[in-house]
Amino acid sequence: MCRLPATAAVSETTAMEVLQTDSWREALELKAAHPDAVPIAGGTDLMVELNFDRIRPRAILDLTGIPELSDWGSENGRLRVGAGVTYARLVAELGDRLPGLAIASRTVGSPQIRNRGTVGGNLGTASPAGDGLPPLFASDAEIELASSAATRRIPVREFVTGPKRNCLADDELIAAFHIAPADGPQQFAKIGTRNAMVIAVCSLALSIWPGRRAVAACIGSAGPTPIRAGEAEQFIADVLDEHDLWRKRAPIPETALTGFGELVERAARPIDDVRGTARYRHHALGVLARRTLTWAWEAYRCA
Ligand SMILES: Cc1cc2nc3c(=O)[nH]c(=O)nc-3n(C[C@H](O)[C@H](O)[C@H](O)COP(=O)(O)OP(=O)(O)OC[C@H]3O[C@@H](n4cnc5c(N)ncnc54)[C@H](O)[C@@H]3O)c2cc1C
Repeated sequence: MCRLPATAAVSETTAMEVLQTDSWREALELKAAHPDAVPIAGGTDLMVELNFDRIRPRAILDLTGIPELSDWGSENGRLRVGAGVTYARLVAELGDRLPGLAIASRTVGSPQIRNRGTVGGNLGTASPAGDGLPPLFASDAEIELASSAATRRIPVREFVTGPKRNCLADDELIAAFHIAPADGPQQFAKIGTRNAMVIAVCSLALSIWPGRRAVAACIGSAGPTPIRAGEAEQFIADVLDEHDLWRKRAPIPETALTGFGELVERAARPIDDVRGTARYRHHALGVLARRTLTWAWEAYRCA
């Protein structure tokens, strides 16, 4: 069904069309026909932009009625999670399979924001402080983009191209993300200026992949995009292999935890801003790196 165009009149000069449909195919056709229409999912970012008059699009494309976007399921051993699955549902339904993303989801806003906000919206906004992004980077997630003409899948690292920038074409919508379920412990830690309802000063997502004998770490809110700490990952993978720690399940030596923290710290590219200084962010990331690796490794040892 396609109800269009419904006009939410603001005034003659600011009238905004609201395009609504409950069909995915029609939504893609509407996007192709109205390339400047701005999609809305939970609205927890977009409505703030509208309320502060930072943007005034000619049309909004309402995606909330499209069932396909709020579906998730398994495909060839990976999970396909619709762009419209909310944080609350991620925690409730996928917390066991995507523990890192679930921990991050629990830190997003308040219950009201988690009931509306979606990872698709976090990807659409592509803020370096988006809490859903580092866990996706640490799991090498792929983003499924669709237009009325084609569908493509792109690694999340390539999807996010800069601060609040992504590679969505004008006629495309985010359909879903594809991600491997955890095969080991995952962690996410976030520093804010208070305990709740806070934008990250910096954050770190860490995943242990025993099947691949790998550790992945992704820095949030300390660079133009989330940043994988590749040198730190390689360093700790070498330590774990060298000391046969995957098999022995023994503690990681203190010197290795320190080295890992230093390399994560070094990978960050933070700036000074209202939430914190670059120096503080570097320091804090070293602490988060040691902490999350210790938590995750302890969970692996005790499993
Ligand atoms: C009080 C408050 C607290 C918050 N706290 C946090 C926090 O702690 N951590 C955090 O990361 N964020 C936070 N946010 C920001 C926001 O909740 C998240 O970024 C959320 O993920 C946005 O999802 P949404 O579904 O509401 O997106 P929307 O606002 O609907 O959309 C956001 C952007 O994504 C685009 N978009 C949405 N869906 C699609 C799609 N399928 N295809 C193409 N483009 C799409 C929209 O056009 C828009 O540009 C907070 C916001 C508020 C108001």
